Amino acid sequence: MRQSKLLSTTLRELPGDAEAVSHQLLIRAGFIRQLASGIYTYLPLGKRVLRKIEQIVRDEMDGADAQELLMPAMQPAELWKESGRYSLYGPELIRIQDRHEREFALGPTHEEVITTLMRSEIKSYRKLPVILYQIQTKFRDERRPRFGLMRGREFLMKDAYSFDIDWEGLDQSYWRMYRAYERIFHRCGLDFRAVEADAGVIGGEGETHEFMALADIGEDTVVTCTHCNYAANLEKAESVKFSLNDHKAPSQGELGHDQDFSAEKFHTPNLRTIDDLIRELHIMPEEILKTVVFLADDQAVAVVVRGMDEINEIKVKNYLGAETISIADSKMVMALTGVATGFIGPKGLSLPVLLDQTVINMTKAIAGANEIDYHYRNLHVRRDIPLEHVGDFRSVVEGDRCPRCQEGRFKFYKGIEVGHVFKLGTKYSRQMDASYLDASGKSQAMIMGCYGIGVSRILSAVIEQHHDEDGMIWPLSIAPMQIHIIPISIKDEEQLGTAEQLYDDLVKHGIEVLLDDRDERPGVKFKDADLIGIPIRIVIGKGAAEGRVEFMERHLRMKESISVAEVVERVIGRIHASL
Ligand code: ATP
Ligand code: MG
Repeated sequence: MRQSKLLSTTLRELPGDAEAVSHQLLIRAGFIRQLASGIYTYLPLGKRVLRKIEQIVRDEMDGADAQELLMPAMQPAELWKESGRYSLYGPELIRIQDRHEREFALGPTHEEVITTLMRSEIKSYRKLPVILYQIQTKFRDERRPRFGLMRGREFLMKDAYSFDIDWEGLDQSYWRMYRAYERIFHRCGLDFRAVEADAGVIGGEGETHEFMALADIGEDTVVTCTHCNYAANLEKAESVKFSLNDHKAPSQGELGHDQDFSAEKFHTPNLRTIDDLIRELHIMPEEILKTVVFLADDQAVAVVVRGMDEINEIKVKNYLGAETISIADSKMVMALTGVATGFIGPKGLSLPVLLDQTVINMTKAIAGANEIDYHYRNLHVRRDIPLEHVGDFRSVVEGDRCPRCQEGRFKFYKGIEVGHVFKLGTKYSRQMDASYLDASGKSQAMIMGCYGIGVSRILSAVIEQHHDEDGMIWPLSIAPMQIHIIPISIKDEEQLGTAEQLYDDLVKHGIEVLLDDRDERPGVKFKDADLIGIPIRIVIGKGAAEGRVEFMERHLRMKESISVAEVVERVIGRIHASL
């Protein structure tokens, strides 16, 4: 490809709204252009990278015996009503109507469509197991599209679905996909961790892992152990469990001298927040019981953690078996309890109280008294509060002891979710009646798994991990072009002749070459080359007269003078080494 003909304008200016480096570089280097918020055109260089990532994904999916198909983006709303997700999925689902006013959704994912397909295609256990996948554009009306391709409203996903006759089969399909994912992200040049995750909107009965590319811009927190290989996302990461005995309410005798202090109300005008209490009463956050009211589906509950802890809504939601959860706003809290938000507390509250396990041994705690401008002090949790619901409801923090090995401590990283594997079980097959006849002729629900990869998001994630102050640094495996040939002056016949010759030779060997045949100043050419980040560069200058050129790898930045005759062999060697 000749650069003079390439549809790609590099920009020196930073795009105004681009916060993420990858977003800035994708625009500046001429890889993408925005059409509307979260909606992008891939220019030729961007499209080439996308195609390479797709090819790696295809390669590994085919290698894992998954079969490629292509499903429609336009999906009848009836399917989503059948699975129960039409209302559950919320405003992220883009809903449209055809000319007959029939409702459709633009697919954000394809469990409904694939389950419908399989229930008519597969009748017998003899046809199972099967894994199907597609690489296709997905639509999600994200609340906050941002970071360029990282969180788009229209984006490219690889989604795969497995169908097995039993749970052992699902386990095999799941781990086969998991291993394929490890190879895919490795081949794309990503530094990633597979972490235990929560089942989220898709729900289901089983295991799920997210694959996280580590990067500071990442919106997810990856929790890892310093000692063992435990890794989870923040939603899922568990606290060390208390033993069951610790949950028993003690008899009066066991309370020791702490019972001398009985809970008493005291006047705390305008002390509404944990910070107010700490400041005015000169106490520590670990002496405070923080109480927050949630609406889980239609049920109101109060959740109690220590003053310094955050409540993990996902843990609360899972404990209650609810499908949705949200914090009750102050109006709602007032309507439910008759008390203003800042003065809610677990003693004497008219709602079910969920206690985080870390509060049950507190003996002289401060908490809201369920009366405006009053708190309790000397609350003895085991004595004063019903221990009906005790569990792990807090978000873990860095430095917490690891629940798996009990030895290491938690360390946090930021991560970009690039892939997700799920054991769905029979969630969709039961709901949508996808069954097969087993060996004895009995009808059984298919056991499903689903597996997603953010193909376009990988582009952003790779740039976040591979760039410097001058631009992108593509790994050879997914670079838009493998070699960049730059004659310093195209007016110099010797230089241009050498460049054209090398270009032809390399192309003949099946190598992808970008030839900078533009009549530009060298400074401009090098700036653009750095920005675009093609991994290997051949610079042709005055040395051409003596048959010498410069060989440079973008990530090393070191230039080496080599003879023209050596170039092809050197380039091929370098490409092979990267495979
Ligand atoms: P997130 O938590 O980032 O919104 P998700 O849990 O909604 O992701 P899945 O439904 O599991 O994502 O989709 C599979 C994969 O698709 C994700 O692992 C991610 O890489 C990618 N993906 C999801 N939403 C987007 C988006 N808005 N833009 C680009 N890629 C996305
Ligand atoms: Mg999402």
